[in-house]
Amino acid sequence: MSDIRCTKCGEPWDIDTLHEMGDWVGETLTFAQARERFYREGCRAFRTVHNVEIDTTRASAEAVLVDLLGDDVDGVAAMLEDFEWIEAERHAFQAGEL
Ligand SMILES: [Zn+2]
Repeated sequence: MSDIRCTKCGEPWDIDTLHEMGDWVGETLTFAQARERFYREGCRAFRTVHNVEIDTTRASAEAVLVDLLGDDVDGVAAMLEDFEWIEAERHAFQAGEL
């Protein structure tokens, strides 16, 4: 399963939930319409609130990847996974664990 992140708060959402957005909000939405709405509004596209504790790093990374890759939601998820792995390695290195 691949996650995409809310561009506002960094909350992870499984890509498959975009297929279900129409059910959540009581509208008929195509996958592309749901994706565009999610990129624009993040969590609020599902009529839920953003996380109180905002993950600025991941939210910003998601926004940049969306700008770069646009419609390629699987590409965004894959590159975000790579980014998170690099971030974890960087933190481990800085902590002297590597
Ligand atoms: Zn959010």
